[in-house]
Amino acid sequence: MTDPKSLPCAVADGHETPPQNAPPCFHLLAKPSGSTCNIDCQYCFFLSKDALYPNGQHRMSETTLETYISQLLESHRTPHVTVAWQGGEPTLMRVGFFRKAVELVEKYRKPGQVVKHTFQTNGLLIDDEWGSFFREHDFLVGLSVDGPRELHDTYRVDRHGHGTFDRVMRGWEMLQRHDVEFNILCTVNAANEHHGRAVYRFFRDELGASWMQFIPIVERATDQTIDLANLGWKQQPGRKRVLYTQTGNRVTHRSVGPRQYGQFLVDIFEEWIRHDVGRVYVQLFDVTLEAYFGRHLLCIHAPTCGLGPALEHNGDLYSCDHFVEPGYRLGNIHETHMRELMASPAQLEFGLNKRASLTAQCRSCEVRALCNGGCPKDRFALSRDGDPGQNYLCAGLELFFTHSRPAMQTMAALLNSGHPPADVIAHTLAEDKRRGPYAPCPCGSGQKFRFCHGNGASSSRFAGGTVRHQHA
Ligand code: SF4
Ligand code: SF4
Repeated sequence: MTDPKSLPCAVADGHETPPQNAPPCFHLLAKPSGSTCNIDCQYCFFLSKDALYPNGQHRMSETTLETYISQLLESHRTPHVTVAWQGGEPTLMRVGFFRKAVELVEKYRKPGQVVKHTFQTNGLLIDDEWGSFFREHDFLVGLSVDGPRELHDTYRVDRHGHGTFDRVMRGWEMLQRHDVEFNILCTVNAANEHHGRAVYRFFRDELGASWMQFIPIVERATDQTIDLANLGWKQQPGRKRVLYTQTGNRVTHRSVGPRQYGQFLVDIFEEWIRHDVGRVYVQLFDVTLEAYFGRHLLCIHAPTCGLGPALEHNGDLYSCDHFVEPGYRLGNIHETHMRELMASPAQLEFGLNKRASLTAQCRSCEVRALCNGGCPKDRFALSRDGDPGQNYLCAGLELFFTHSRPAMQTMAALLNSGHPPADVIAHTLAEDKRRGPYAPCPCGSGQKFRFCHGNGASSSRFAGGTVRHQHA
């Protein structure tokens, strides 16, 4: 899948004069049903965004849809454009809305523009009609799954508190039946943080996924909101939900631990580097390898950001999906062309501030060129020097980027000499043999290699047997 924030930014010949500072491409996330969702994941901050639009149903009108599609295609000076649908839950809009979107893309597409639709869903409403529509128009569908049943159902629940795993798997079966290109979006949270390998194996072996991304759950709260936040941002009796904003330096008990996030990634990396390089794509691993060549494909680990705006159902454009809050509203596309909003000083400053606000610890960090301080939304901890603005996940980021460095350097060298990076598997296995099965596992678990990432590793209690395989 094209990641929500990744940019295939090869600039094509321009046909018009863009406003000064207008980016040649960007990756907009459109929310046609606003924050409305048909389930109630406990960690979902986005449900609270209905507080921004207290009146009326949150549904994108056909007028806004047409304005959006035409402006998006006009704004791009690249041959490739991604039309990314997200939520809330976009399937609440019904198939007809997206048929119209496809028609409008054909109407406004510039000669030579190649348009890809992506669609992020919880999968519950995916049926034959959706499946055949996605296949017909070559949609790339991201399915949100947090791992095998027990892990997934911890937080991904419906309004009655019931787990959604079985219903998500029915959606997955529909995607399989219609041969829809899909990938997995998995959050890393307090429930699955110790089960990286089992989660990864489940996606690879049970769901047949060859592309996956792992998103850390970091729910910020203040001293005033932490109790409510721990309850799941639920509406208080007789009151509206509290609007989630990126404030406070406390986190909910559902949030992933900093070090645990890194260990989760390392756990998966050690499996991937022995078995799957070249056939399974893990977003952060790809992005990290690209960073060794000076290319930053993911905003979170790029030096600057600001190319991933979010569009609300009524045409309001925000700086980023993670900053849909009043202080980051750039304007409305019915009043100002999105190209101008993207070139506005406010958005420029938003993007540049990512670099300008790095702490001294980040600036002197050995893996800064790979990490770049992570996402500003997570920068609410204290640095080692006691400075505010350090990334809450720093310990885990440092662990992952440091741990993966030797193998990444090997892959980079392989690429430089014209060899496939998958040849790193042979290097890794040779190193395993040299070290022997009873040496400590390189993942840092403290277990002997043989009983951890070695071939004799036992399956986790979570892996396997939880879903029926069904191929189209
Ligand atoms: S704030 Fe974070 S998620 Fe948003 S564009 Fe910047 S790095 Fe990306
Ligand atoms: S690992 Fe930590 S110190 Fe280094 S750049 Fe990332 S957030 Fe900053």
